[in-house]
Amino acid sequence: MKVDTLIVGFGIAGLNYADQLRRYDKSFVVLASKEESASHLAAGIVNPTVLKRFNSVWRAGDFLDYALPFYSDLEERIQSKIIHPLPIYRILNDIQEQNDWRVAASSTSLEKYLNKQLISGDKFPEVIAPFAFGEVIQSVRVDTKRLLSHYIEKVIPHQFIPEKLDYRALIHGELIEYKGIKARKIVFCEGYHGLKNPNFNFLPLIGSKGEILTIKCEQLTEQVIFKGPIFLSPMGNKTFWVGATFNRNDKTTRVSEEGKAWLLSKLKQFLKLPFEILEHKAQIRATVVDRRPLLGRHPKLDNVYLLNGVGTRGVLMSPLLSDWLFQYIENNEKLPPEADIKRFEKQYFRN
Ligand SMILES: Cc1cc2nc3c(=O)[nH]c(=O)nc-3n(C[C@H](O)[C@H](O)[C@H](O)COP(=O)(O)OP(=O)(O)OC[C@H]3O[C@@H](n4cnc5c(N)ncnc54)[C@H](O)[C@@H]3O)c2cc1C
Repeated sequence: MKVDTLIVGFGIAGLNYADQLRRYDKSFVVLASKEESASHLAAGIVNPTVLKRFNSVWRAGDFLDYALPFYSDLEERIQSKIIHPLPIYRILNDIQEQNDWRVAASSTSLEKYLNKQLISGDKFPEVIAPFAFGEVIQSVRVDTKRLLSHYIEKVIPHQFIPEKLDYRALIHGELIEYKGIKARKIVFCEGYHGLKNPNFNFLPLIGSKGEILTIKCEQLTEQVIFKGPIFLSPMGNKTFWVGATFNRNDKTTRVSEEGKAWLLSKLKQFLKLPFEILEHKAQIRATVVDRRPLLGRHPKLDNVYLLNGVGTRGVLMSPLLSDWLFQYIENNEKLPPEADIKRFEKQYFRN
């Protein structure tokens, strides 16, 4: 089989890159392990703001403006609902936070996303909010798990190979060859597993483990995502996503009793209602030392590319990042220097 591009890895980054290729009519095949990844566990919240400090994410407007129509288009393509517009209600902890919220909501970078009008803490009596709620508007939840499985089933059923890549079987030359596949280029979208990729192991992917709970809570509203010390997000049928922990030391996907206890203690700080725990899971986010994505071409191999390091905001960022990478590969456009792996090239030549 001969194709233009071989994509390795199919989390949200691989999916977005595949869809760029589809849109531009490029032939491709995806080789990906079918295990659950960070993309399956993510709440899928597309939120351009940082709700700890009330500021905006790097290039928030660009990412959001690209992501929303991109996911709408995907929703249409797979004929299944994946976008759930849901405001985020940040529980404000004191008068100082209320004032800080008002100031942030009046700033040029955030006025589009933060409602200046505070929402009374009494609006949802099932939640402890003695002060007001700050409302994030334009936020949505993307059902990433459904998107990934439906995309394979409906869009690329014959272009998806459920297999883990064996790096030793990869032959680099003018064409990339792998077990009968010949491709003009290869794009690695491996998330945290990319750490093991011998072509890119010079990059500072650090990884941060996140544990989450899924709970059932019959009386809780499904109209908003709450943000107290952690997120509490509706997932349908009265189930809710509770998370997440953030741990840079443990790089396993095993769940821990400490993680669960921590999540429960944070949840009980603001949820008054009884609930039942349905699931407890963990995955690793592909975070990078300088908190910027990793895009670009291998320092020596001309047809070997990377889309990784999407960190804690992969759902928000991957659509535009995949566009940047596509334009870079196919049309020689420049990558933003903050995202280009050239910034770490010295590490490669030092090794
Ligand atoms: C608990 C938690 C909550 C999160 N919540 C959000 C959120 O609400 N909003 C948001 O924007 N982001 C969120 N994130 C972050 C988001 O999940 C990640 O940024 C994103 O999913 C990473 O996508 P990815 O495709 O780069 O990697 P992954 O999802 O890790 O996918 C990589 C895929 O490649 C496969 N693979 C790797 N190596 C190989 C190989 N050699 N051969 C074949 N296949 C391979 C893996 O098996 C995997 O399927 C969350 C993350 C976690 C852990």
